[in-house]
Amino acid sequence: MIETDISRAIIEEYNERLLGNLENDVVIVGAGPAGLAAAYYLAKAAIKTVVLEKRLSIGGGIWGGAAGYNVIVVQDKDVLDEFGITAKKQKDLYLADAIEFAAALAYKAKKAGAEIFNLTEAEDVILKKESVEGVVVNNSAITTAGLHVDPFCISSKYVIDATGHAAEVVNMLKKRKPKLYPNGTQESFMDVEKGELGVVERAGEVYPGLYVAGMSVCAVFGLPRMGPIFGGMLKSGKKVADLINEKMQSPNP
Ligand SMILES: Cc1cc2nc3c(=O)[nH]c(=O)nc-3n(C[C@H](O)[C@H](O)[C@H](O)COP(=O)(O)OP(=O)(O)OC[C@H]3O[C@@H](n4cnc5c(N)ncnc54)[C@H](O)[C@@H]3O)c2cc1C
Repeated sequence: MIETDISRAIIEEYNERLLGNLENDVVIVGAGPAGLAAAYYLAKAAIKTVVLEKRLSIGGGIWGGAAGYNVIVVQDKDVLDEFGITAKKQKDLYLADAIEFAAALAYKAKKAGAEIFNLTEAEDVILKKESVEGVVVNNSAITTAGLHVDPFCISSKYVIDATGHAAEVVNMLKKRKPKLYPNGTQESFMDVEKGELGVVERAGEVYPGLYVAGMSVCAVFGLPRMGPIFGGMLKSGKKVADLINEKMQSPNP
């Protein structure tokens, strides 16, 4: 019967993908520009990578550009070229279409070999021997409805918090370790130059096994916000991917 054949095909395929990604090298929480860029570079280096996104759509803050004007601005064209995104030069800036930008990042990450699960929310971390070794997840529809339903777990050698301004994964740790970031996790006032530099420079490991990329870097370190300019998000994701790649190549990963 065609109806149940369709259902069986979907259920079998999804379960196969999920079971194949319960144990990973890297779990990335958040499919915004930083998370998708990190996923692309990690998967390209043959590192087993899964991205979890709590919303139905990937892309995080990409779609709306500034105030709903769906134009992306970057300072460096190379970051767009890597993803095959069309760029238009305007003075010292490059402009791209937000829809093409989000689609290209997701397409390239997926084609490089990263698995992406949308509607999947990380709600806690797995912490063993003082090292983050994965996340506790649930279906977003369940968490949104506040239902009393147990989650399941996805393990990894490294976790990347790419959850944007909320720095949700870092805050999951902080909940039980209040001495971590005693001043809270909140980015500072707008300053484009400092923010764009800092989001790349400070991207990295913030706790054994836990890395931050993208706006969560600004939140964790109190760095300036920098408005709707997206090049730093991609570079921040790439930096964390490179750091993890280096670590995995080292004799004591
Ligand atoms: C109020 C506001 C201020 C902004 N300020 C700046 C700025 O200062 N600088 C700047 O460059 N851009 C800013 N932007 C634009 C844009 O949001 C960001 O640049 C960019 O989207 C951040 O990229 P990101 O990858 O770090 O995070 P995001 O694009 O925010 O992506 C994070 C993703 O993580 C997902 N997520 C969060 N928690 C979980 C979880 N527990 N489980 C699974 N998924 C999760 C979210 O659904 C989202 O898709 C701003 C946007 C807004 C709305």
